Amino acid sequence: MTDEVQPQAIRKLVPGKLVIASHNPGKVREILEMLGPYGIEPVSAAALDLPEPEETGTTFLANAELKALQAADLTGLPALADDSGLCVDALNGDPGIFSARWAGEGKDFKVAMQRVNDALEAAGPDASRDAHFMCVLALAWPDGHVEWFEGRVDGSLTWPPRGTGGFGYNPIFVPEGSDQTFAEMPDAKKAISHRARAFDAMMAAVL
Ligand code: IMP
Repeated sequence: MTDEVQPQAIRKLVPGKLVIASHNPGKVREILEMLGPYGIEPVSAAALDLPEPEETGTTFLANAELKALQAADLTGLPALADDSGLCVDALNGDPGIFSARWAGEGKDFKVAMQRVNDALEAAGPDASRDAHFMCVLALAWPDGHVEWFEGRVDGSLTWPPRGTGGFGYNPIFVPEGSDQTFAEMPDAKKAISHRARAFDAMMAAVL
């Protein structure tokens, strides 16, 4: 007999249809590109006319789970959801899980980036500009089983915004080791992103 606890087995993803449970076109595009080589057939939430659930969770994980579970339940298919955001050290981790909401009803990220910069300026000239992007990917099955994976990229915030690539807060985020913002990088460079890291962890575990 041994006291060792058997590590919990991760459920494998059988190649086939996978619902991408997101209504954010920027995220969907990145996830589709990453799924490309894996022989998985992505089906978008928009194509299935799935409702966009209210993000009532208080963590990235809770929100990713609720989006993935709702899509799996409604479609009878495995579903992948992403919850992610920008966490700024000097703002106690804000906007964090509220990153999308800081853009307001119009989903205008010029407004959101300005709000982040205004808050940093209000914090004083010595406030750290360190920040990180977090991503939790939740993979849910129709029977309610969920696996989740996390990715993070550290960096700092620049002002004014630079570049046009991607979405959200990309134009003000400079990842560690780079002098370009995420919005100035060719897509291949975003392979270092929080989402790519969570995705790589997921694929290593579930395939
Ligand atoms: P949610 O996960 O739907 O709550 O939204 C996350 C928000 O975080 C997005 O709307 C973006 O504003 C921001 N965000 C997450 N990942 C990225 C990224 O890779 N680049 C830029 N902004 C991001």
